[in-house]
Amino acid sequence: MPELPEVETIVRQLNKKVIGLKILDAWTDWPRTIKTHSLIKFKKEIKGLKILRAHRRAKYIMMDLSEGKTLIIHQKISGHLLYGKWIEKNQISNIKNQNYKLKIKNDLKLKNQKWVGLEPEALWQDPFNRHIRFLLFLNNGKMLGLSDLRRFGKVFLGDTEKIEHINEIGRLGPEPLDAGFNFKKFRELFRNKKGKIKQVLMDPFFIVGIGNIYSDEILWFSGIHPEHRTESLKEAELKKIFKYMKSVLNKAIDAKGDSQQDYRTLDGGFGNYQNMTMAYQMTGEKCKKHDGGVIKRIKVGSRSAHFCPVHQK
Ligand SMILES: [Zn+2]
Repeated sequence: MPELPEVETIVRQLNKKVIGLKILDAWTDWPRTIKTHSLIKFKKEIKGLKILRAHRRAKYIMMDLSEGKTLIIHQKISGHLLYGKWIEKNQISNIKNQNYKLKIKNDLKLKNQKWVGLEPEALWQDPFNRHIRFLLFLNNGKMLGLSDLRRFGKVFLGDTEKIEHINEIGRLGPEPLDAGFNFKKFRELFRNKKGKIKQVLMDPFFIVGIGNIYSDEILWFSGIHPEHRTESLKEAELKKIFKYMKSVLNKAIDAKGDSQQDYRTLDGGFGNYQNMTMAYQMTGEKCKKHDGGVIKRIKVGSRSAHFCPVHQK
């Protein structure tokens, strides 16, 4: 599932690509994706609105539109937002590039899909980009598309002023990378908070944006066992978690996120954090601290945790 760095990457790229463009129409073959409207009403309401800016709250992508509206997309488990050009499969014969046309026709994996990615080529070359469930048509001839294999992605449209009333947004915990979110505020969160540190870090009502990947990474750097009880964390340990939470998330944003699974960048390309992981999905590998440890996987709650039993006791 995309976490803070993956969503932040998409938002930064949206701000470079789609600001000032108008939305002309919408399409979906999975209308329940749109949580606030029927497809007919959604199309009517969004038509002609201009995209003013993109921003992020937790793992929600938000696009402020003209007329005081905000479009919100949550990519959930396997969804990722893409920007480019698609054509309907039955229009393939109109493609001018003969090589490309042949490649698409020969590709049996395209069998069940209505839309074929035209540009950039990663939209059709990479199977993870081919599950288009939702499209927004823009006035420059391009589109925003949600590729979502498992169909859990969600779209909301509402008044910009009332965003906190949409879904769970108003109840979410603080943003770990906010400039004003200092150690004092972080430590305050732990007062009366009981649980295993990995689970607590992954709770969006405690702090947002940290999931399975980055909780493993933060705890590896901090030298803390994923099942360590929050009640018994010492001040020095909390300081480490706070420091590495910021540095790991920033490093992952610089790497444009982790594409080990479904997530891709806005142009369908790969993020790079999967080449930099220290613990996540590294079971059986030697710890990169060269302390003789071998990364181990255990269950913490319903999720797996990866850690080094030597320096994360
Ligand atoms: Zn180690």
